[in-house]
Amino acid sequence: MTVQRIRRKKRRLRRKIKYGLFVILTIAFIIAIFLVVIPFIDQMRLSSMGYSRESAKNIVSQKLTKTVLSREYSAAFDTNMIKEIDVKEYLELYYVTVDIDDTDKLLYDRLQDLGYQQMAVLKVFSALTFNEITPLLVFNSAEDLDIYIADVIANRDQEIFVLSNNYTDHYENIKTIDDSSAIDVLINKYRATVSDYVPDLVDMSVQYASSGQQLQTEAYQAFTKMVDAMKSDGLGGIYVYSGYRSYQTQERIYNNYVRSKGQQWADRYSARPGHSEHQLGLAVDVTATKSPSAAFETTPEYLWLQDNAYRYGFIMRYPEDSELITGYGYEPWHYRYLGVELATKVYQSGLTYDEYKILYGE
Ligand SMILES: [Zn+2]
Repeated sequence: MTVQRIRRKKRRLRRKIKYGLFVILTIAFIIAIFLVVIPFIDQMRLSSMGYSRESAKNIVSQKLTKTVLSREYSAAFDTNMIKEIDVKEYLELYYVTVDIDDTDKLLYDRLQDLGYQQMAVLKVFSALTFNEITPLLVFNSAEDLDIYIADVIANRDQEIFVLSNNYTDHYENIKTIDDSSAIDVLINKYRATVSDYVPDLVDMSVQYASSGQQLQTEAYQAFTKMVDAMKSDGLGGIYVYSGYRSYQTQERIYNNYVRSKGQQWADRYSARPGHSEHQLGLAVDVTATKSPSAAFETTPEYLWLQDNAYRYGFIMRYPEDSELITGYGYEPWHYRYLGVELATKVYQSGLTYDEYKILYGE
């Protein structure tokens, strides 16, 4: 081998090394641009829109830069992004409101299931509180949600939930429930059981009811347990003066009310046949044993039920401030059996059963 050939080989090797280094550096440079420079520029652009540094960082890491840059600045979204919330498929909701939990997401989905447009639902979420929105689950003729929003806001200073316009048509588009035997079945002014539905019934002891009253066994056992507990807390107890009522009985009662007090009164305080929870054998009208003729809401037994009924599976079905939602005036005497688990959930939700059932599904 000549000296010349060795030199040529060395030179070629040096050239190869130089070339290799060049390629590696170029790749490293490109990677650096993607990892550092572009995100940095994105963050700068988001910051110039008004987003804080922390939220800009999170927007970039969730790969939402393009979307966010194409829209106007949202203070709500900024706040959500600062908290490093993973927006997933609820981006739109996070754009209009803060402090969103799973129940809010469920409500957002349900309203769209009911046929409301996403844009309208987003407006509702940006303007109203959770409890101001949930009545929409029940209302069946709230077509223009802008009107609803303005109505709710205009009536916010009232002590109970009232609205100036009507958003519901009772006894319209009635859903008939063929099998009403489930303990959680919902019956109201939009949902009816069939006229020949008769549950499995048991006669109630006169220790717990006036004579001739019946209930489903499970509800009856829970009721006796509840009354025994109430008594061992030193109270006089309660008894059922109306438990199960057949379709025919309800028909007679309703028609009598219409005759004596007019249809409007009858519809406020009495269910039309097929629409009464009493036909399920799962509802009771009660009074205080010690003072049966007193207004029940003035008795200590009523107060005890307010705190404890759910522990035995019962809920007060028609509360004072919910007439617009339940369709019934305040009925401090009417309790519905749902079983302990469900009654507890409904009680803790603060919703009427009409809202609860639609929100959480059938
Ligand atoms: Zn009742």
